[in-house]
Amino acid sequence: MDGAIDSKAFYDISYGLYVVTSVKDGKPNGQIANTVFQVSGKPAKVAVSISKENLTHDYIMASKVLAVSTLEEETPMPFIGLFGFKSGRDIDKLSQAAHTTGVTGCPCVTENTLSYLEGTVIDSADAGTHTVFIVEVKAAKVLKKGTPLTYAYYQDVKKGKASQNAPTYRGEPTKSEPEKKETSMQKYECSVCGYIYDPEKGDPEGNIPAGTPFEKLPEDWSCPVCGASKGDFNPL
Ligand code: FE
Repeated sequence: MDGAIDSKAFYDISYGLYVVTSVKDGKPNGQIANTVFQVSGKPAKVAVSISKENLTHDYIMASKVLAVSTLEEETPMPFIGLFGFKSGRDIDKLSQAAHTTGVTGCPCVTENTLSYLEGTVIDSADAGTHTVFIVEVKAAKVLKKGTPLTYAYYQDVKKGKASQNAPTYRGEPTKSEPEKKETSMQKYECSVCGYIYDPEKGDPEGNIPAGTPFEKLPEDWSCPVCGASKGDFNPL
């Protein structure tokens, strides 16, 4: 079958997990990216692929600066959800994450971060849905030692999902129908981001008191991590 594309061949490509940040008119924004790689040594350059639909893309196009923070393996899911499943059009993400301003004027996320680098865009390639930015690194800093979070670990161990604008999005997962338990303390998992609703804890951020069964959540309740609707949850 010469020329046939087995999409599973792409699953074997390895990726990391990063927060890519930029700035426009003094406003910072950032997003999760898994496609960051060094492309040359002297001077040091990295390539970053960003969806044209994302606000960070607009910011990078405007300011020509970006920063990459390499996340540690212990990074909590809500932090990934903040940058991966919420839009800077709705919230100020950087107000919820520790960061510093780099030499390029770009915000650099320091929370859950092993190291970060920042630089200026010197070239880009139009990849259709995405732009691949070539960035000359102007500064780089190691904050702590640790194991970098890989995309495989995020998916396999943390049970994380890809955002629709990820270059590696694999389409909607097929929904299995697990047997529903008739207990009101049943936990439910978000099929989009992997957040688990635990009735014993409720959702204090969403004003849902502890002890509220999933079935009793208001119909317009949404996932506190990624904003998915109640219908996107499956019983565990
Ligand atoms: Fe979610």
